[in-house]
Amino acid sequence: PVTTENVLQWLKQYAHVLHENRDYLTQLDSAIGDADHGINMDRGFQAVNEKLAGMQQMDIGSILKTVGTTLVSTVGGASGPLYGTAFLRAGIATTGKHELYEADMVNLLTVFIEGIKVRGKAQAGEKTMLDALIPALEAARKAEEKKPGLGQLIHQSSAAAEVGAKETTSMIATKGRASYLGERSRGHQDPGATSSWLLLKTLSTTLT
Ligand code: ADP
Ligand code: MG
Ligand code: MG
Repeated sequence: PVTTENVLQWLKQYAHVLHENRDYLTQLDSAIGDADHGINMDRGFQAVNEKLAGMQQMDIGSILKTVGTTLVSTVGGASGPLYGTAFLRAGIATTGKHELYEADMVNLLTVFIEGIKVRGKAQAGEKTMLDALIPALEAARKAEEKKPGLGQLIHQSSAAAEVGAKETTSMIATKGRASYLGERSRGHQDPGATSSWLLLKTLSTTLT
């Protein structure tokens, strides 16, 4: 299973990955937004990182809820409330748990996406983080049926998120700041879809 310790490692590593990709994500956002996605995500997860030492005794649900409230309170911009709501819901769905199995991971991704949808009113194909996360959930569901093991489920989910993030390049944005560009948003990879892919990629590499 994914343990409490794995979750803490995942968050620590993601904070590091975001710090390393701060300029890259900001560059992506400079093409179709306001050039701050890397800055926003780095700020939020540095704040999360600082709280990790105090989370060692928590269950997975409490950890994820703390991530959610931290993101809501530290990240300006659309991505703060969107990821914040997603992590809050993921935390509620895993309340009291110290281990996550295949069905828990599928459920976690499901409620994570629901949080983003409720908050941002977007659907698949609107060039947002959902275009990495929805394919990731579909891949996780398929893997859950075929039972290749939890590591493979997460690996396949991450691979689908990568494809999804890259496919946002050809999409026209109809939500968020990028939608102001209309047709001119095409030809650029969405920053939020990219940070979502990195989130799953980091989970996958944390477990191997
Ligand atoms: P802001 O646009 O406020 O500067 P960020 O740059 O941090 O915030 O985040 C931008 C990302 O947020 C976009 O690349 C997109 O993936 C995501 N996003 C924006 N609006 C929505 C929405 N309504 N639903 C889902 N995701 C969204
Ligand atoms: Mg921005
Ligand atoms: Mg902004």
